[in-house]
Amino acid sequence: MVKIAIMGASGTIGKNVAFTLAEEDSIEEIILFSRPSSYEKIMGEILDMDDALAAEDTDATLTASCDYADLEGCSLVLITSGIPRKEGMSRLDLAVPNAKIVQEYAEQIAKYAPDSIILIVTNPVDVMTTIALEASGFDKKRVIGLGNHLDSLRLKTIISKHFHINSGEVHTRVIGEHGDHMVPLLSSTTIGGIPLNYFVEATDLKIETVINRLKSAGSTIISKKGATEYGPSYAVSNLISTIVNDSRKILTVSTYLEGEVEGVYDVSLGVPVVLCKKGIKDIVPVKMNKFEKDNFFEAARTVKKATYAVQNELDD
Ligand code: NAP
Repeated sequence: MVKIAIMGASGTIGKNVAFTLAEEDSIEEIILFSRPSSYEKIMGEILDMDDALAAEDTDATLTASCDYADLEGCSLVLITSGIPRKEGMSRLDLAVPNAKIVQEYAEQIAKYAPDSIILIVTNPVDVMTTIALEASGFDKKRVIGLGNHLDSLRLKTIISKHFHINSGEVHTRVIGEHGDHMVPLLSSTTIGGIPLNYFVEATDLKIETVINRLKSAGSTIISKKGATEYGPSYAVSNLISTIVNDSRKILTVSTYLEGEVEGVYDVSLGVPVVLCKKGIKDIVPVKMNKFEKDNFFEAARTVKKATYAVQNELDD
């Protein structure tokens, strides 16, 4: 049985992930960690969730905490704390204030849950993955960022809705930056095992339109309802279930690269990996066409520059 913690639990993503994972059989306890100012709110959330879980005949142990010592024994700690994007903001606008939060939390996780896996949601997530890696001193296999898994789910939705087919028939993936420089791997996308290109010729699906819709998917939701909520929360829950159940699924997460993909190094980017209970088991080799490869290199340049800028600010 597994104990996990969610930091920033009073926030939109944090509380939704807690509620989704409360029904996960293999998780014994979820610590909803928050700043002291949010403690009462967390207590209210837990009381409300307990009522909902009773309707499902589920007994989950949800514990409110503002004490780092309660992270002890956690096999996974999720960091969702940070300032979210408002309409018109890019994810990179959040980099320095959020890096200070992630740095502090990653240091505390290393102290109280030294064997845990850190999963980061806070944006800009690729930059934050490197910050958490450095602050924790963990092996890179245990520091993982969510970003392109959500983008991949969004791409799956766009394609399945266009073709009016079950989303389970679409196998696709987005890599690179969780941001403007994301790279949809359309060259290797298949529908029911058949390459996407075969369908595109017979329909009015425009690749440029798909890419633009994908890149603006998060901003479109934020402009209409103020925040993204269910998509990221379910994407996080997917990752956590895969890890705690040792399912060994191939999912796309941000990880610190040291030349494993196209020789890109010293930057965290989204790439497909095999996830297991120890974190990242293996990085999966990716085949890209020239257009995708060029965009992947551009993503690396952009995120590396942003990471260096944040590291310099933190050092000052
Ligand atoms: P939210 O509802 O505003 O919640 C963020 C939480 O962060 C707050 O409830 C608070 O939790 C904590 N927090 C806020 N300011 C803080 C500070 N100065 N110091 C420490 N903790 C602070 O935001 P959200 O929608 O859940 O989003 C959380 C983060 O995830 C944002 O950075 C957002 O951009 C990012 N995000 C990432 C993805 C992705 O795919 N990677 C998708 C969606 C959102 P407590 O008071 O409980 O501590």
